[in-house]
Amino acid sequence: MRASKYLIATVKETPSDAEIVSHQLMLRAGLIRKLASGLYTWLPLGLRVLQKVSQIVREEMNKSDGMEVSMPVVQPSELWEESGRWQQMGPELVRFKDRHDRDFCLGPTHEEVITDLVRNEYSSYRQLPANIYQIQTKFRDERRPRFGVMRSREFIMKDAYSFHASQECLDETYAVMHQTYCNIFDRLGLHYRPVIADSGSIGGSTSHEFHVLADSGEDEIVFSSESDYAANIELAVGTPAPAGDEDDGEPKSRELVDTGQASTIEEVAAKLKVSPQRIVKTLFVHATNDEGERTDNLVALLLRGDQELNETKISKISGLASPLEFADDDLIQKKVECSVGSLGPVGLSDLGIRCIADNSTSEMHNFVCGANKPGYHFINANWDDDCSPEAIMDIRKVREGDISPDGKGFLSIKRGIEVGHIFQLGTKYSEALNAKVLDKNGKSVVMPMGCYGIGVTRVVAACIEQNHDAHGIIWPKAIAPFQLVIILIDAHKSEQIVEFGNSLYEQAKEIGAEVLLDDRDKKTSPGVKFADSELMGIPHRLVVSPRSLADGVIEYKNRATTDKQLIETDAIASFLPKLFS
Ligand code: ATP
Ligand code: MG
Repeated sequence: MRASKYLIATVKETPSDAEIVSHQLMLRAGLIRKLASGLYTWLPLGLRVLQKVSQIVREEMNKSDGMEVSMPVVQPSELWEESGRWQQMGPELVRFKDRHDRDFCLGPTHEEVITDLVRNEYSSYRQLPANIYQIQTKFRDERRPRFGVMRSREFIMKDAYSFHASQECLDETYAVMHQTYCNIFDRLGLHYRPVIADSGSIGGSTSHEFHVLADSGEDEIVFSSESDYAANIELAVGTPAPAGDEDDGEPKSRELVDTGQASTIEEVAAKLKVSPQRIVKTLFVHATNDEGERTDNLVALLLRGDQELNETKISKISGLASPLEFADDDLIQKKVECSVGSLGPVGLSDLGIRCIADNSTSEMHNFVCGANKPGYHFINANWDDDCSPEAIMDIRKVREGDISPDGKGFLSIKRGIEVGHIFQLGTKYSEALNAKVLDKNGKSVVMPMGCYGIGVTRVVAACIEQNHDAHGIIWPKAIAPFQLVIILIDAHKSEQIVEFGNSLYEQAKEIGAEVLLDDRDKKTSPGVKFADSELMGIPHRLVVSPRSLADGVIEYKNRATTDKQLIETDAIASFLPKLFS
């Protein structure tokens, strides 16, 4: 490719609306351009990278017996009615009508379409497992599109769906896909970790996310210091820890104390000269009725004073409004006759209020809690008949330093970018869409399913988050848009530069290198050519200048190591292949 005829759309200034480095560099290096919020055009340079990522994903999927298909972006509402998601999905699902007034949506994911295909095309266990994938555009009307293609509304996903005649068969394919994902992210040169994950609204049980570790990541990932335990914080298990307090454990009798204006945990702790760990915090949320509708009945959630609620864990408890809704002051006043600041668990069962306690409170004794009397707290409260939770479970967010749930080591927390997500869906969709095959005994069985996504466009951004310096992107070899850039200096002054440059360009192409010849005319200064090559992150660079040619050498520079060498012009033919071996 000749730069003079190529769209080199580099920008010197950092765009003001780009908050994270990958977004800034993707705009500055001329990989993408914004069309509207969450919508991006991929420019020639960016598309080369994107296609390489797609190709690696495709090759590894094919190696694992994946079958590539292409399903429509536009999907009829009937299938979504069948799965129940036409009603369940919020405004993220873009719905519209065609000219015949029929309902359609833009596919945010393809479980319905693939299940429809498979129920029509498959009939016997002998044809299974089937693992079908596509690399295709998805549309999700994200509430907050941001960070460029990292969280966009239109994006490319590799989505695969597997179908089985038994759970064992699903387990096997799931393990194969886990390994396939590791192979893909290894080949992409990413520093990543698979972690145990929540399966979210898509449903299902077993699930792993693949996270690229980066400070700009939107997710928090929890790791054990001494074992393989790694989980998304949404799922990371909080183990009951000893209360570790200053008390000897002998139950004392509960006393009412005046705490005046103190209402936050910190204020109460200061007033009573105890640590927040010795206080039980009480939060009220809305309950649902038997039909699952939100009511004004309350449920109390109890936590140790220094802990925070984990809303993902809470969302799995039945009987609570979803999404979680905290009761407002008026409602609490009406039900408990006390305002926020002095609330506590004692006596709530008499008021018909369910109490659910975090397991961090189970070992607490002689603790402090609100007395449900404005301006008062109890000291030396204990779990007893009039203060006893209906359930003790893990409802908190784990913290740095907590004991790992497998008992080995302590937890630390890092930030991650979710680039892949695999899960066992079970029969959620196949049941709803009646996707069955005959098993070995001739019996009709609903097929358990797996589903496996990779955010192909997001991978490009995530890769830049991990591979850049002050001058620009540093592409890993596997996905660099070009492997080599040849920069010509003062070509307008010297025919020899043009000739030498052209012959170098031809030689590089001959050995199969993807090469960009920077033959832009004198309006583009050498300094700009150098800066652009670094910004665009091309791994290898050769510079042909009148001065060096006069000395019989050309300069080589490696983008990643910044290593520079002078290569004798007559040694270039043997030097070039070494760069790409
Ligand atoms: P997130 O938690 O980041 O919103 P998700 O759980 O909704 O993602 P999945 O439904 O699991 O995502 O989709 C599979 C993959 O698609 C994700 O792992 C991610 O890499 C990518 N992806 C999801 N939403 C977006 C988006 N808005 N922009 C770019 N990539 C996305
Ligand atoms: Mg996900």
